[in-house]
Amino acid sequence: MFESLDWLVNVITSIKWYDVIDILIVAVIIYYLLKFLIGTRGWQILIGIFFILSLWLLAKILQLRTVEWIFDNLWTIGIFLLIVVFQPEIRRGLAKIGETGIFRGLFLSRKKVIDEVIRAATFMAERKIGALIVFERTIDLDNYTEGCVKLNADTSLELLISIFIPQTPLHDGAVIIRDQKIALARCFLPLTINPNIPKNIGTRHRAAIGITEETDAVALVVSEERGEISLAVDGKLYKGLDSLTLRNKLIDLLGIEKRDTVEVILGRFKKGKKGKKWKK
Ligand code: ATP
Ligand code: MG
Repeated sequence: MFESLDWLVNVITSIKWYDVIDILIVAVIIYYLLKFLIGTRGWQILIGIFFILSLWLLAKILQLRTVEWIFDNLWTIGIFLLIVVFQPEIRRGLAKIGETGIFRGLFLSRKKVIDEVIRAATFMAERKIGALIVFERTIDLDNYTEGCVKLNADTSLELLISIFIPQTPLHDGAVIIRDQKIALARCFLPLTINPNIPKNIGTRHRAAIGITEETDAVALVVSEERGEISLAVDGKLYKGLDSLTLRNKLIDLLGIEKRDTVEVILGRFKKGKKGKKWKK
């Protein structure tokens, strides 16, 4: 008893200031990693990994030699498997690191992308050109990209309008914006089956609601019938938005204030807590 107390006192007294920094850095990394993964496909995989690690621990405690041997020999393969499975998350994580700090200038800023999308949406709404633009957030939309046309082009007003001009090959379906780029076009999205959605809501709007029920994406719809712009988030449709409201909501939803310009941070100060409920 006293021996273990002694040991504890020894450990505590031998902690240096750089050990504290070391622990803090690791804690911050784990915190952001969990925050980044929660709610994504990666989070489920992480739970699976914890389950497997618990099995391994149990095998060690119960001295199950064969199970232990399998775990001991397969962990290197496991690491490679993890890299393959987490490839989209790793890609996104690295891109996010790159977007901040000194690399930011290399990327088309999120704010610029939002401005281009809003200008395109306003242009199309005025001319009653229907459009559906989906912003991917933390959940990968790869499950919905079968049959889409890959573009991977810089997001621009001109390209967005060209895509949705009726009777052109790409106008049907949705555009997906991923990592500030127009990644895909002509995507077919799942329609909502929520019975509470009014009957007069058509398929374009139902597709926008559908994708935001299944993922944390944000979908912008331009109605060709009414010439109005709506936003779908978390399975809810916010109809008839003017460009200023749309801009504020998109800035809030796409998390610009966290990592972008001082201007937005100052804007947030002025706005106070308004718009918080839109955040994931
Ligand atoms: P609008 O107000 O523009 O008329 P709406 O909600 O009434 O929109 P529809 O009139 O049914 O919807 O719009 C049909 C168009 O919506 C299709 O031509 C297609 O471009 C798009 N659309 C329909 N279903 C989907 C889907 N599942 N995924 C993506 N886009 C879709
Ligand atoms: Mg319609």
